[in-house]
Amino acid sequence: MQLRRGQRLLAATHNGGKLRELNGLLAPFGLDLVSADELGLPEPDETGESFEANARIKALAAARASGEYALADDSGVVVEALDGAPGIFTARWAGPEHDFGKAMVKTHMALMEKGVVAPDARKAEFVAVLCLASPEGATECFEGRAPGILVWPPRGNKGFGYDPMFQPDRHLRTFGEMSEAEKHSWAPGKPGLSHRARAFANFVEASCER
Ligand code: IMP
Repeated sequence: MQLRRGQRLLAATHNGGKLRELNGLLAPFGLDLVSADELGLPEPDETGESFEANARIKALAAARASGEYALADDSGVVVEALDGAPGIFTARWAGPEHDFGKAMVKTHMALMEKGVVAPDARKAEFVAVLCLASPEGATECFEGRAPGILVWPPRGNKGFGYDPMFQPDRHLRTFGEMSEAEKHSWAPGKPGLSHRARAFANFVEASCER
């Protein structure tokens, strides 16, 4: 699927942090981004068993309800020593009040209960899958991963979600200590640092007019 400059694209997210990041990442491609919130679209249940399945559910629901091309993102943190948890349940670990301070404590406690203390044993990967859906129901998905470790205590107050706890490989600062530009470290033609930027690089390569 090819998106032209000036074309309307619905960002199928109700998460303000993600929407802001998508806006920044999409800026060079001249797309007219509208959000699911602006159109008052309901949030579908995320009943899939993978990031890809959930991204597809969200993108298809938004594209069908609006008649627009829609881009959805499903993401989370996959912790090696926790057998991949919280994974697709990352947002749910923050509870109905979306308290990511609480979610980070829960993740840290789960590691401590397993005796996982050494920094290099606390390996984690942020994963993002972007799914583009057409109003007719065609879909294409793009994945990005950012490997790193989970530090404790959390550091920094930038970004959102688990950012203050996540230190990407080959960096000494957490995502919470980086500006958005550093966190993504992405420009057209470059792979990027964050999982979302990497998924983006794959998406724009395949779908956007430059
Ligand atoms: P979902 O994709 O809306 O199901 O939510 C995934 C959850 O993963 C978010 O609510 C965040 O807690 C976490 N997450 C995903 N990407 C990031 C990121 O870039 N930084 C920090 N947390 C993230």
